[in-house]
Amino acid sequence: MKTCIACGMPMTKAADYALGDESKDYCLYCAWPDGSMQSYLEKVEGMTGFLIRTQGLDQAVARQTAIRTLSKLPAWQGEITSC
Ligand SMILES: [Zn+2]
Repeated sequence: MKTCIACGMPMTKAADYALGDESKDYCLYCAWPDGSMQSYLEKVEGMTGFLIRTQGLDQAVARQTAIRTLSKLPAWQGEITSC
């Protein structure tokens, strides 16, 4: 089983992959409809919104948490993590 390189989600079935393509290294939530992977900043924004909605974090805390989480994932090694 693979995990998404961009968000860490386990991908257990073909439908979890971008475009349902198991050769991809990232999940459907990290892909645009054309199958290309979202950028680091797009994932930071997306995860920040997700944390605010699901955990009630405030904006600044949610953003820091998102950046910390993403910084551990293989897709973003070498990205600036202090923005
Ligand atoms: Zn993902």
